[in-house]
Amino acid sequence: KLITFEGIDGAGKSTHLAWVADFLQNQGLEVVVTREPGGTVLGEALRELLLDHRQTMHAETEALLMFAARREHLDKVILSALQRGAWVVSDRFTDASFAYQGGGRGVPLAKLEKLEQWCLEDFSPDLTLYFDVPVAISRQRVQAARTTDRFEQESDLFFERVRQAYLQRVAEFPDRIRVVEGSLPLATVKTAVAAIVENFWSA
Ligand code: C5P
Repeated sequence: KLITFEGIDGAGKSTHLAWVADFLQNQGLEVVVTREPGGTVLGEALRELLLDHRQTMHAETEALLMFAARREHLDKVILSALQRGAWVVSDRFTDASFAYQGGGRGVPLAKLEKLEQWCLEDFSPDLTLYFDVPVAISRQRVQAARTTDRFEQESDLFFERVRQAYLQRVAEFPDRIRVVEGSLPLATVKTAVAAIVENFWSA
């Protein structure tokens, strides 16, 4: 199974991903933890370019590079892991392109859908946890972490568009994407995530 974690920066997805991976491992499963953009040697090189705040690029170039990294990720990591029965836990996947390059940068969703079809055909995650937080909270958390990649320096308006695009994906794929209220206290979020993952795992 492929489980993906999504949310705007500072929503808490990476924190919860780590213990979900541990939880699955403790059930005796082989778990592959990976991320996007990245996950392969080529993908990590693309990630460096994509996150480098000194880079400028056309929004569609950005989308193409994200999908290039994803195509490689699918081929080199995800499909082979799934074929041998492992579970894959990925920090972001295709929904992030609809949110960031679509909502955030304004690449037409129809173009992203074509790219998705071209790169992934009908492949999609089995379960997606979307961590929803208001932009103001995301901003506070990102500033506290003092990280500034090319995306994190964007305006609140940009992140508001990204968040709305994520919520649109949630509405479009209600069976696959589960929303987690990321602004609640850590322990409360963890309980919510645990309920979703345990339910999915035991189904
Ligand atoms: O998940 P993480 O914060 O490590 O992602 C790295 C950066 O790449 C983030 O700032 C995220 O906003 C950005 N990103 C993006 N489009 C994607 C995937 C990630 O803009 N499709």
